[in-house]
Formats: sequence, structure tokens, C-alpha cells
Amino acid sequence: MNAVLLDEDGIPLYVPGEHTAYTEGYHIYFNTKGNTTTLDQHSVSGIALIAHELVHTRQYQRSIGFPVAYLAEAGRVRANGGDPGGYGNKFEKEAYDEGGRIEAELRAKYKDGVACP
Ligand SMILES: [Zn+2]
Repeated sequence: MNAVLLDEDGIPLYVPGEHTAYTEGYHIYFNTKGNTTTLDQHSVSGIALIAHELVHTRQYQRSIGFPVAYLAEAGRVRANGGDPGGYGNKFEKEAYDEGGRIEAELRAKYKDGVACP
């Protein structure tokens, strides 16, 4: 596996819509507004977000056709009235499941939500 780049310079301008984070290949972009970023390696929810985005880096590794397959899946979900970036998208489901699993594990261990002060 290549090194994953955690980028706090914001979501690329060519990406439509509002996103907490966005992954392209090994590059994870975190949303940045003013002086705040969605990259947070200290909180349980921040680590769960990183886990979610790491699933997308693995999806890129699994298939060179992943970006096209993702767009097709998002289009299918949208055509059925769903949220293309939501749980109905099979690629997002995989990522939400992993992020949720990590979040539940950490919440059980760090009740205050701070995993890594
Ligand atoms: Zn996602």
C-alpha cells in the first residue's frame, strides 16, 4: 500500500456538492472552513471519518475502474431518489460500515469521545 496523504487544504474545487471529506486514490481531502478542518485524529468521530475514507482508498486499489463504477452506482442511487453519497450506495455502505464499526469500538473504550488527547 502506498502512503495515504491527509490533506487539509480543502475539497478540490472540481468536486460538486458539500463534503466532509473526499478521497481520490491515496489522497484524502478534508473540508476546511475558515480555520477549522474536518481532519481530527484526536476525537472518536474524527478517527471514524478517517476510517471511512481509508475504505475508499482501498476501493481505489481494488479496481482501476473504481471511479467510473462509483459514478455509475451514485447515478443509480440518485435515479431511485436516494442520496448518492449515502448508505444506499454500495461503496458508501462499505465505508459507513467500517467507520461505524471503528466508532463503536472507540466509543466503548473512550467514553468522553477523546481517543488520543
Ligand atoms: Zn464515503
